[in-house]
Amino acid sequence: MHNFEFIRPEDPAAAITTAAQAKTAQQGAEVRFMGGGTTLIDLMKLNVETPARVLDINRLPLDKIEPMPDGGLKIGATVRNSDLAYHSSVQHDYSVLSQAVLSGASAQIRNMATVAGNLLQRTRCMYFRDTAMPCNKREPGSGCPAITGSNRTLAILGTSDHCIATNPSDMCVAMAALEATIHVQGPKGPRAISFGDFHLLPGSTPHRETVLEPGDLITHVTLPPPTKESKHVYLKLRDRASYEFALASAAVVLTIASGNITRARIAFGGVGTKPWRSHEAEAVLAGRPAIDANFRKAAEAALRGVKPQSENGFKIELARRCLTHALRTALTS
Ligand SMILES: Cc1cc2nc3c(=O)[nH]c(=O)nc-3n(C[C@H](O)[C@H](O)[C@H](O)COP(=O)(O)OP(=O)(O)OC[C@H]3O[C@@H](n4cnc5c(N)ncnc54)[C@H](O)[C@@H]3O)c2cc1C
Ligand code: SF4
Repeated sequence: MHNFEFIRPEDPAAAITTAAQAKTAQQGAEVRFMGGGTTLIDLMKLNVETPARVLDINRLPLDKIEPMPDGGLKIGATVRNSDLAYHSSVQHDYSVLSQAVLSGASAQIRNMATVAGNLLQRTRCMYFRDTAMPCNKREPGSGCPAITGSNRTLAILGTSDHCIATNPSDMCVAMAALEATIHVQGPKGPRAISFGDFHLLPGSTPHRETVLEPGDLITHVTLPPPTKESKHVYLKLRDRASYEFALASAAVVLTIASGNITRARIAFGGVGTKPWRSHEAEAVLAGRPAIDANFRKAAEAALRGVKPQSENGFKIELARRCLTHALRTALTS
């Protein structure tokens, strides 16, 4: 691993001032915050990330989960994934989030990983992690070998001619369905970013993954007040039962009254270049009877017109079945 300076800032302002000296908050950033380090240190060992300064933010007061006056929930940036998943309000009111977090990684990694770090975890595309290979995300303009190479696990939604990498997070899929808001403190002050606006599509700049700017510190995430009587399901399909990323996953938050769906929030993981909210599936379900035929129609709408790569065409039907089954499960949960 390259040499770098390890710093433990005393307060958020000191952390932000130091990080603001970097030219970018994207790939190649000279300064990086560190939560659990389970993504960052991994990539530093591979020389994919080579920051000159690493700011350990674990001493900052960002580790609380608190109720908000409007009935929502405030989740600090350094809350561990395991503390989030087992928090009583999360299990009771936002169970899709608890299920999603517990489906990811291993107990040991969840004990280290933080909420903000999970929001910013990087793709598992094998070319991105191998500095002997070209990769537009790691080295802009160098090419994308995945398009003609090994792409079985990569994305079918939101891809571009420059990058087809999948966003690997489970937690983010649930947060997309829950319509979370990400709160950032930067050199110019605080701002709130809707979950759907936080991650960027690759387009011609796959090295830019989020709207974050130099010095932007994620301080917390908020969830809106829970929807009464809603049913929550996170279903993750993968090559093996644990310690594996999703090939396709679906987060479902459904409200049903007298057999009709009154509200549906749907997001996919494992198939998109960002956590993938499906407004198309939601529109098909809203106001319709909660029956299998409508579940299948919603799944068709969500994947309509998708163009797969050479090895991942199977993900289209897999994602459809994943959503259909998740909706069925929600009915009986
Ligand atoms: C073997 C293995 C298996 C895994 N399996 C899964 C899985 O199945 N599903 C899944 O979803 N995930 C999985 N993961 C990924 C894991 O969830 C992430 O590594 C973890 O969530 C990252 O959190 P962290 O706190 O360790 O991040 P870090 O490594 O500390 O940071 C990650 C990034 O976030 C930035 N950052 C951290 N905190 C802040 C902040 N407050 N403000 C701004 N930037 C910040 C860092 O600078 C860095 O760029 C796996 C990881 C490993 C190693
Ligand atoms: S898919 Fe994206 S991350 Fe993978 S090689 Fe292509 S540019 Fe790099």
